[in-house]
Amino acid sequence: MATSSALPPEQRYQRLEKLGEGTYATVYKGKSRLTGDIVALKEISLNADEGAPSTAIREISLMKELKHPNIVQLIDVIHTENKLMLVFEYMVQDLKKFMDTTARATHNVLDVRTIKSFMYQLLKGIAYCHENRVLHRDLKPQNLLINKRGELKLGDFGLARAFGIPVNTFSNEVVTLWYRAPDVLLGSRNYSTSIDIWSAGCIMAEMYTGRPLFPGTANDDQLQKIFRMLGTPTEQTWPGISQLSEYKPTQTIYPPQHINQVLPMIDPVGIDLLHRMLQYQPHLRISAADALNHAYFNEVRYVQFE
Ligand code: AMP
Repeated sequence: MATSSALPPEQRYQRLEKLGEGTYATVYKGKSRLTGDIVALKEISLNADEGAPSTAIREISLMKELKHPNIVQLIDVIHTENKLMLVFEYMVQDLKKFMDTTARATHNVLDVRTIKSFMYQLLKGIAYCHENRVLHRDLKPQNLLINKRGELKLGDFGLARAFGIPVNTFSNEVVTLWYRAPDVLLGSRNYSTSIDIWSAGCIMAEMYTGRPLFPGTANDDQLQKIFRMLGTPTEQTWPGISQLSEYKPTQTIYPPQHINQVLPMIDPVGIDLLHRMLQYQPHLRISAADALNHAYFNEVRYVQFE
């Protein structure tokens, strides 16, 4: 036994098959040589010259303190010369894969009870992080992880604070903008917790339709898609918008559509919640804590996840 605990940090986990590629890292399944537990190993290659930014390491180490049933637990941070390895609790699949496979068998959409349960758990995880003054900044179905018990947990929380809002993935793929809040797309830098709520709203709509709500291809196209549905914001509807660096006064003015007509499969109570999450003005967006008290969740609020 003493031999296992004496293992150098980088040998504590056996690397198994590759699970996927994320924004910051390659993800492998792994097994603890100490306990036999199955984990997810996120390997971040570090710039050979610069090594790991010490602020990033400090930020990430703080994430170990975030402990909540709806947050993927960061178990360990192992820092070697040219690699940073984040050890997370293992989850069977992510919401994107779940929507693509399980849901496809049922006409591409999830049943309403599952959607409510997932949204409730998503907002619980967000509320906990926001209470601890941590933003996610890059919420999307790929980093919402689910297990066989129907539990949903948020992955990669806090990593954006350590590494900055992602522009490209480590393998140079373009990071998806589909879930990004309009204030961030317009160049706002003093964004806050409300940016995660916008993403949650986009994810809610996608669970109902099976398709992303605003599948933009670039910053401008992303804004166009939002404006076409929710109407082009102006100084009247969003005081201060013209001060944002990416704001274009020549923007085509689209009238707002009724989201209940665009998303007829969502009941009026769900539309009310979605409407509150997709507010243009960040301070008008509902908070995660208030969203959890919304009537939409009356059926799922008291269900216990063990
Ligand atoms: P991410 O960097 O979170 O986008 O991870 C990329 C992919 O790796 C995800 O889409 C998952 O399929 C997988 N993955 C990430 N974290 C975990 C985890 N904790 N357990 C199992 N698979 C994971």
